Amino acid sequence: MIFDEYSIKTLIRPVPDFPKPGIIFRDITPLYRSPRAMRMVADSLIQRYVESPITHIGAIDARGFLLGAVLAYELNKPLVLFRKPGKLPCDTLCESYETEYGEAQVEVHRDALKAGDQVLLLDDLIATGGTLLAAARLIKQLGAEIYEAAAIIDLPDLGGSRKMQNADIPTFTLCAFEADE
Ligand code: AMP
Repeated sequence: MIFDEYSIKTLIRPVPDFPKPGIIFRDITPLYRSPRAMRMVADSLIQRYVESPITHIGAIDARGFLLGAVLAYELNKPLVLFRKPGKLPCDTLCESYETEYGEAQVEVHRDALKAGDQVLLLDDLIATGGTLLAAARLIKQLGAEIYEAAAIIDLPDLGGSRKMQNADIPTFTLCAFEADE
């Protein structure tokens, strides 16, 4: 199946003023309701990483878990969960960051990664980049490396993907929306 950016974008619904006035929320539930589109998204990521040297999939709470689990299964790699505070039961590391919506935190288990590990980080969307950059700091604190950060959607106007490139984190997204789209 050939990746068709146009048909993927038509399945991402813009919801103005959610969850706060001024924010256009990019709702991916129509995409997840389409088995054909989900297969197209998963297959393009699987093809991109199938022969890469990644050792782990890192998935961001919560929508990153959906793709993260599919990729971990298909690529036969361990799945590491980056979770909202208070969800992981054992010894954790925590990083704080700013989002479009306010202050947030992300946590990972201390024993989830070690030196030499190469992580493919996954989320559904890059906005300000705060979430992925915080997860990237956790990966580095554990001595591991980020192979690439990938998401379905980039919102380039919010500057996240540029911040990630500036931080030397290779970044890949399947489609992008400008603010007026
Ligand atoms: P950021 O850390 O600013 O890059 O935000 C990325 C995270 O917040 C992702 O986990 C997204 O699911 C969520 N997010 C941020 N902005 C939006 C948006 N406009 N539409 C949908 N999800 C968003």
